[in-house]
Amino acid sequence: MTEQLDQPAPLEPMPADWQRALAVVAHPDDLEYGGAGAIAHWTDGGREVVYLLATRGEAGIDTIPPEECAPLREAEQRASAAVVGVSTVEFLDYRDGVVEYGLDLRRDIAAAIRRHRPELLVTLNHRDTWGGQGGGGNWNTPDHKAVGRAALDAAADAGNRWIFPELISEQGLEPWNGVRWVAVAGSPTPTHAVDAGPGLERSIASLMEHKAYIEVLTDQDPEEYVRGFLTGYAEQAAPRFGGRPAVTFELFTR
Ligand SMILES: [Zn+2]
Repeated sequence: MTEQLDQPAPLEPMPADWQRALAVVAHPDDLEYGGAGAIAHWTDGGREVVYLLATRGEAGIDTIPPEECAPLREAEQRASAAVVGVSTVEFLDYRDGVVEYGLDLRRDIAAAIRRHRPELLVTLNHRDTWGGQGGGGNWNTPDHKAVGRAALDAAADAGNRWIFPELISEQGLEPWNGVRWVAVAGSPTPTHAVDAGPGLERSIASLMEHKAYIEVLTDQDPEEYVRGFLTGYAEQAAPRFGGRPAVTFELFTR
């Protein structure tokens, strides 16, 4: 009955016929744990990618109080974005750790979609778990679930003038119904992938920019930890992508 699970379907290549992407995640470092390798590859190809973060990740470091942590992590995020060719990084100022799914979040993401007019929306795993071997996998965080789900919903909200009419009347943001796909990084059920090779070294450099965070996360040498994590992550997907290490996404088409 479970034979099919032993041989998961091959991962399809990500669509390439687009010019602009908006990546919407909860925290600094969310994109750097995998997705940035694909983003480096895309910006190399002349595509534009903008980052939108719901929080500044100010609750992420036990030893640093939020008011000191927020500017530190914002700076690290801007530096890590620059490494993969992303120069626009915006923050929505939600409070780290207690982001709730709801209309405010949908409206704020829809506004950003209208401002940047992406064809591809990228977000992080909105599902309950990260998957993994055995048991129920690792439980996801409330912020990731809220932001991921709101991003998936906001792709449609951005295209409908009647759902958040105040975006037009107060901010002059006309509908943008041009989002063709939402790609979810870190999904336990990926469907598509990007070759990890071309962007791997920059994805390592990009994650290493989160110095303060990584310093308290592990006793390992930072580069050893980052290289080990990202290389291992990409290799996991290889059997489903013609043997090539890959950055995976669950792709939703609109
Ligand atoms: Zn996160």
